[in-house]
Amino acid sequence: MMIWTAEAEQRVRDGLAAGLSYLDLARQLGTTRGAIAGRARRLGIKTGPRRGPVKLPRGSAPIPLMKLKDDSCRYPVTASRFCGRMRTRGTSYCPEHARLCLRHPHARPYHTTSRPA
Ligand SMILES: [Zn+2]
Repeated sequence: MMIWTAEAEQRVRDGLAAGLSYLDLARQLGTTRGAIAGRARRLGIKTGPRRGPVKLPRGSAPIPLMKLKDDSCRYPVTASRFCGRMRTRGTSYCPEHARLCLRHPHARPYHTTSRPA
């Protein structure tokens, strides 16, 4: 039985926005495809056969964890593969995925330049 924390719901939102399938998310969250589909519906997330807005550039393919380099984007594109593009300094993601992840209400900036006034 899946326990839906705000974080799990956000992962579904982010994952679907990134083009993950219900099955990919089910594997990531340790639940069933049906549970993800049901939750997405309840959250009002519309999905279709079209993939999400985040696309990998032509010629680049998601890579498995062990192939990631220090400067590779660590955004999970599928359950076991990561974006792998050059990441932005100070984040674990490429510019596109950094933008996607920093919209996350629970995400904290990886580097804050703000100082006490
Ligand atoms: Zn990326």
